[in-house]
Amino acid sequence: MSGRHEKEKGVNVQVLLRCRPSNEEELRNNAPQVVKCNEYQREVAVSQNIAGKQFDRVFTFDKVFGPSAQQKDLYEQAVVPIVNEVLEGFNCTIFAYGQTGTGKTYTMEGECKRAKTGPNGELPAGAGVIPRAVQQIFDTLEGQNAEYSVKVTFLELYNEEITDLLAPEEISKVILEEKLKKQLPLMEDGKGGVLVRGLEEEIVTSASEIFTLLERGSAKRRTAETLLNKQSSRSHSLFTITIHIKEATPEGEELIKCGKLNLVDLAGSENISRSGARDCRAREAGEINKSLLTLGRVITALVEHLGHIPYRDSKLTRLLRDSLGGRTKTCIIATVSPAVHCLEETLSTLDYAHRAKNIKNKPEVNQKMMKSTLIKDLYGEIERLKSEVYAAREKNGVYIPKERYYQEESERKAMAEQIEKMGVLLETQQKQLQELQDKYVAQVQQCSDLSGKLEMTEKNLNETVKLLANSEDELKKCHYVLKEKEFIICEQKKAENALAHEACVLRSDLEKALKDNASLFQKIGREDKLNTDNRVVVNNFQAELAQQIGTLYNLVALSVSQQNEHLQSVEKLCCSFTDIHDKAILEMKKKVTAARALHVSHMEAVQNIVRLHKASSNAALDKISSLASSNAHSIEEFFSSEASKAASMFDDLQHSLATHQGEMTVFAEELRQRFHVSIDQTKDISDYANEILDKLSEESVRVQNHAVQADEVQMKSISSFQNAYEEQSMSDAEKLIADMTNLVYNHVRRQRELVDARLLVFKESAAVNKIFLDGHVSSMEGITTDAKRKWQAFAIQAEKDAKDTADYSVAKHCRTEELLQHCMSAAESAFKHYEITQESVNEMGSKHVSDMVSLIRNATDSNEQHDAEIYRMSEQEQGITRGIVDSIKAHSKSLETFQDDHSSQASSIKQRAEETFQQRYMDYEPSGTTPIRSEQDVPSKGTIELLRAIPMEALVEEFRENNSFESFEPKELKPSLIPRPPLRPIN
Ligand code: ADP
Ligand code: MG
Repeated sequence: MSGRHEKEKGVNVQVLLRCRPSNEEELRNNAPQVVKCNEYQREVAVSQNIAGKQFDRVFTFDKVFGPSAQQKDLYEQAVVPIVNEVLEGFNCTIFAYGQTGTGKTYTMEGECKRAKTGPNGELPAGAGVIPRAVQQIFDTLEGQNAEYSVKVTFLELYNEEITDLLAPEEISKVILEEKLKKQLPLMEDGKGGVLVRGLEEEIVTSASEIFTLLERGSAKRRTAETLLNKQSSRSHSLFTITIHIKEATPEGEELIKCGKLNLVDLAGSENISRSGARDCRAREAGEINKSLLTLGRVITALVEHLGHIPYRDSKLTRLLRDSLGGRTKTCIIATVSPAVHCLEETLSTLDYAHRAKNIKNKPEVNQKMMKSTLIKDLYGEIERLKSEVYAAREKNGVYIPKERYYQEESERKAMAEQIEKMGVLLETQQKQLQELQDKYVAQVQQCSDLSGKLEMTEKNLNETVKLLANSEDELKKCHYVLKEKEFIICEQKKAENALAHEACVLRSDLEKALKDNASLFQKIGREDKLNTDNRVVVNNFQAELAQQIGTLYNLVALSVSQQNEHLQSVEKLCCSFTDIHDKAILEMKKKVTAARALHVSHMEAVQNIVRLHKASSNAALDKISSLASSNAHSIEEFFSSEASKAASMFDDLQHSLATHQGEMTVFAEELRQRFHVSIDQTKDISDYANEILDKLSEESVRVQNHAVQADEVQMKSISSFQNAYEEQSMSDAEKLIADMTNLVYNHVRRQRELVDARLLVFKESAAVNKIFLDGHVSSMEGITTDAKRKWQAFAIQAEKDAKDTADYSVAKHCRTEELLQHCMSAAESAFKHYEITQESVNEMGSKHVSDMVSLIRNATDSNEQHDAEIYRMSEQEQGITRGIVDSIKAHSKSLETFQDDHSSQASSIKQRAEETFQQRYMDYEPSGTTPIRSEQDVPSKGTIELLRAIPMEALVEEFRENNSFESFEPKELKPSLIPRPPLRPIN
């Protein structure tokens, strides 16, 4: 399937590129490399320096081998498949194309020919395509155990002459003349192919033989070079390997498969220029490059699909006809040098190779021959040769002298060449004929085109004549219209003058209006100044207010601290008072208990004395025993009753003292509570004062904010007013200039309205501000009076509390004195009882009485002492109470001063505020320079309308009445007669 497809469409010539490494000389000269090979992307980049700029030209090929690629790599990647196809029965050709010295021969033949094969039949590393191909062929065929034959030919083409490089030695030894005559002719083989007659076919039986053959060929080439003074760079060499392989069909018939491999080492490509590849004149340069030139032309013809392909123009193309667009598979190896000095040739080679990529071949397998046919052919050949040999030996046949033979031979050769040349000439002439015929057809076509054009032109001319007549009529009309228009323009010009005059009048009005505007601006300036002054006043007031509030705050704080101090001192005094009180009570208790103990002991002593007296009287008064016993009994009773009475009395005394003590503690407790209450109240007062101060500071902050805001608002409104005014005046001025009519009045009125409205707004905002500030001041006043009132209430309360406390302590003091008196009366009654007792006892014994008297005196002393002590104590208490009262008085005095200070501060703030807002805050005062509202004398619309020119139609009618179109003579309008161009460019 694919095979057939391939056959129909054709296979492109495979093009490889090989770049050799820098040689020693290049390395020595440090020549820069301009060729870069990318083997993976199969690209070659050539850097060019054009006008100082670096350009990269990139070419893509089927395979790219860089400087580092070895012979083996190239062979394995590129040639192995080709040789395999040859073994399949295809004909294949490999060309080496490139500048001299880029490695064509190196690639095809290789180096180290003398090294021959290694011990294992390996090839040396430098071996080229030819030895490796032969090696592969032998390896494959040996591996297949096939019957085969391998024949090689090796020829050189120089100056359109073919030399056999494998011919026996003696031929190359003949003289130059002889040698020249040994050139081999090309012959058609009758099957479309070309044969080289008499070419030595060497049968090769092993791979190693190939080196001998190559060496022989090279040696011959060298000899020929020296003989003919030619250079290998100008000659092409063609090495052909032909393989015949025997195959057996399943039917047992034997077939011969035939494959051919052509390996062509072309002459150096520098021998043709790029233009020369297409230029016929290059042929005159001689025959040397003919084959290479023709090869280029054949490639061009194939690529451009021209009808005629000049195969016949050179021997090389004739020999390789099948490889170029034929049934052979073809591969071109283009070789380049990386050095910069070869750049031009490198680019030419790359272009050439790139172009050759487009050649399409249609490869076909060679038909397999039946062995019998081949043998028959060979027999025929043998017969022919035999008869030739026979004729030669027997001299049987035509015999002619040697000179004549050579002459005839050369004549024949010349004729053959002439025939060839004539063939070529015929072809070119046929081509020329074809070209001429093409030209004739083109000319005929052109002629018919021209006659068509002529007809068209005539038609156009007629139309143009008609148009001209029409145009003349039109021209007359136009002249008439022109006159008409001129008349109209004249009329309109008059109207224009009148209008201009009116505009001047309006302009003077406008100037007045502008003056008024300027004075209005001055007024606004004055107002601005006033506003800034007011702002300064407000700011100053604010600062002062803040300062005064600060001092007020300090004052209150001072007063609070003083009150705290005072309360502390009062508390201290109360504490000391209670302490003293407690101590006195304790002492009193102690003394009472001591008095009681003394009393009991005295009573016991009295009892003892009484008992003693009883005993003594018992003895003396036995006689009156009944009386005495009753007496004693009654005394005893009396004493016991007295004792009980005294005990109850002391109990009473003790009880009253205890109640006194309890009352004293309660009193102290109450005092403490009251003081606590008064402290709390004072704290409340100070808190309240703090609150007021906070409120005041808040108020002041608010006032400040408001002042700032009001200021901002005023500034903004002023600026916006200014902007609006500017915009308005600008636009209005423009409109005024444009219209020049009644807008002046409107403008002035509108501006006045605008100014009035804005001023009203300012005034309103100022009034609002004032109201706001007044409100704040009055609220501050309210707060201050409130605070004053509270302070007074607090002071009264404190005074009342202090009075209450004093009253209470006085009452307590009275009570204490009462209690003491009670105690004293109790003691006196006790004393009386004792006196009675003494009197009653005096009868019983004076001794006892004196004892009793002394005893009672003691008690009285102690009582007096006690009394004195209580007195002292009460004095102390009174002192303390007085101290408390004094301190409270001092406190109330300080409160009064504080109140005075506070009220004076508040009044000063009030005074300040009043002063600020009544004296310093200024209202706007009219300066008298503001322009007065005045009625402008504005021309009415009617009068302005009157200035207009008469309407166009009326003018036209008027003109037509005076000048009829029929009588109108279109004069030749001389430039001098034309008053002015009808359409004058404006500005
Ligand atoms: P050409 O046949 O194209 O004129 P040659 O094959 O004679 O060029 O090569 C010129 C020189 O460059 C030789 O000495 C050869 O050894 C060397 N040369 C060419 N190509 C290579 C290569 N790929 N690697 C190494 N040396 C090379
Ligand atoms: Mg060479």
